[in-house]
Amino acid sequence: ARLATGQGDAKFVEFIDVEKSYGNFHAVRRLNLSIGRGEFLTFLGPSGSGKTTTLNMLAGFERPSEGVITLDGKSVDRLPPYERNIGMVFQNYALFPHMSVADNVAFPLSVRKLPRAEIGPRVVRALEMVQLERFKDRKPAQLSGGQQQRVALARALVFQPTLVLMDEPLGALDKKLREHMQIELMQIHQMLGVTIVYVTHDQSEALTMSDRVAIFESGAIDQIGTPDELYNKPATAFVAGFIGENNALDGVVERVVGNQCLVALPTGLKTTAMAIGDIRPGAPVHLTIRPERIGLSGAGADSDNRFQATVDGRIYHGDHQRLLARLASGQILTVKVGPEATMAAGEAIDLCWPISDCRAFPAGAVPDGSSANIGSVS
Ligand code: ATP
Repeated sequence: ARLATGQGDAKFVEFIDVEKSYGNFHAVRRLNLSIGRGEFLTFLGPSGSGKTTTLNMLAGFERPSEGVITLDGKSVDRLPPYERNIGMVFQNYALFPHMSVADNVAFPLSVRKLPRAEIGPRVVRALEMVQLERFKDRKPAQLSGGQQQRVALARALVFQPTLVLMDEPLGALDKKLREHMQIELMQIHQMLGVTIVYVTHDQSEALTMSDRVAIFESGAIDQIGTPDELYNKPATAFVAGFIGENNALDGVVERVVGNQCLVALPTGLKTTAMAIGDIRPGAPVHLTIRPERIGLSGAGADSDNRFQATVDGRIYHGDHQRLLARLASGQILTVKVGPEATMAAGEAIDLCWPISDCRAFPAGAVPDGSSANIGSVS
């Protein structure tokens, strides 16, 4: 749904060397980020990684300690939140309890002093969009959580902002409702062409809805990309472990050839992997391989990396199963197999994986100062 075309549109929102410190704690470190007009961009990351702080600086609730944020080419440095013309939706709805649904939605228009005759029809249209016309006279307390969140959404969209910020807007809803609202949000985004910056720590939500996702870790963006890029080409070990499921093996580099490397695992096993980042002979590396990319190979199967393993266990999941496979090195891999697989514990199997699906990252490549955030895990 990204509509960015011209240069200006690709940089509808820009963070230029933005930092935020509280005392000597760096909540956000030197952030550079461009958001395209019409884009749905999600900030995803663990608790305390700086997502909300970054969003709040864009909203105007926090001032950057350093750097500049621009909106449509102009610095917002001196603009208070209400002059930025940004719609906002939070986890806790923040509706006015004493006002009707219609009055809640009308509120942003009343404060902007729109003529009464214009307010009515706009409120109706916003409520129609979230399918709540019938409830316009109710008070928020007479609505379910999902309905209240729709009111909050209608209120954020009613004044036709070009940018809407959402901080865990579906966090309070149960799984079914959340998934339903995700689809509604995507439809509204597509229909209106509005730019959305969305904060979540739910990776499936991020991958489902977003044009691009920025992965936050310890106050910095580790990687920004489409859901497909993040899943298939993680740039760091952190992203590889954070997005989807990954097997992790530790090894030592024997040699590097182009963008590939040969890695020795304990007890003499070797695998060829893609070399990501600064990989040198003799250096310890962290290997990742997704469970669904590991194949079961019969004798003579043609694959780059082949290993004998022993089945440690098989776990049934309905549409698939997960095998726990023990390599001769003692390392255990999870392998995703079909529902029909029948192998039993103790059985010998052959595993294989393509070089392109095995990624070697420098071991211990954790960004500086990440330990500063330990303790803020919720
Ligand atoms: P969550 O998913 O839990 O909301 P987050 O990624 O949004 O986390 P932030 O709320 O941006 O994280 O917080 C980033 C870091 O900054 C945290 O370690 C937090 O404790 C710290 N922080 C935020 N606000 C303040 C403040 N006013 N004073 C001191 N530290 C703060």
